[in-house]
Amino acid sequence: MKKIGIIFDFDGTLVDSFSNRIEPHKKVAELITEFLKKRGIKANYHNILEKVIRTEEEGEKRVTRSRDEWWKQIFKELNINNVPEDFVTKLTNVYWETLRDTTTIYQGAPELLAELKQKGYKLGLLSDTDFAPGWKEKRFKSSGLAKFFDTYVVAGETTPEPKPSPQPFLEVIKRLNLKPEQVIHVGDNQDTDIKGATAAGIDSLWIDWQGNPSGNRYGAKAIAKGFPELKDILYKFLGIQK
Ligand SMILES: [Mg+2]
Repeated sequence: MKKIGIIFDFDGTLVDSFSNRIEPHKKVAELITEFLKKRGIKANYHNILEKVIRTEEEGEKRVTRSRDEWWKQIFKELNINNVPEDFVTKLTNVYWETLRDTTTIYQGAPELLAELKQKGYKLGLLSDTDFAPGWKEKRFKSSGLAKFFDTYVVAGETTPEPKPSPQPFLEVIKRLNLKPEQVIHVGDNQDTDIKGATAAGIDSLWIDWQGNPSGNRYGAKAIAKGFPELKDILYKFLGIQK
């Protein structure tokens, strides 16, 4: 069936929110160091920074993505009790604020979206929650890309379940008024984007930045090795002549 809708993931697909991640790490480490010093606890900024970086690495691996939980884990490791909840929330807000401000759009992304829209494709954005309600929406809107989309769904907020549940995928196509066969999903994480799309009966294109050694595990119909290649691969898949 002819594809007339395209669903895009956000982080790592349209925007680079990874390359500058040291900036939110530094901000959080500064605040924790300051907090400890105020309590009369000896604290070394560089050790704290190292802990913050490691906590994120481990959190990503275990798909435990609530930043609040990450900071609590750090305080636990430092044997610090009674950390006020609002300080934990502040750390998370500063983290996402800094990440938002240091995120860059992949070169060519606005042009690609504009061209697809002009060709008549319906466009949906599907991104997982940042596990801090409202932040993903804020980051998406401040990227300047929202104007290209007919709808957006924050999985885990708009719908109860995050990816790879088929639920948020089905919600996007419902909003676009399309059937699964009429849509392709584009995303960079095969464990969430490709697995979820396949479960929802939607074809997918995987942006495989790392050249993942485990290969195409969930049946992506096309693979691009990064954003620069995406347009060619997508157009070939959609049968668009350039
Ligand atoms: Mg992504």
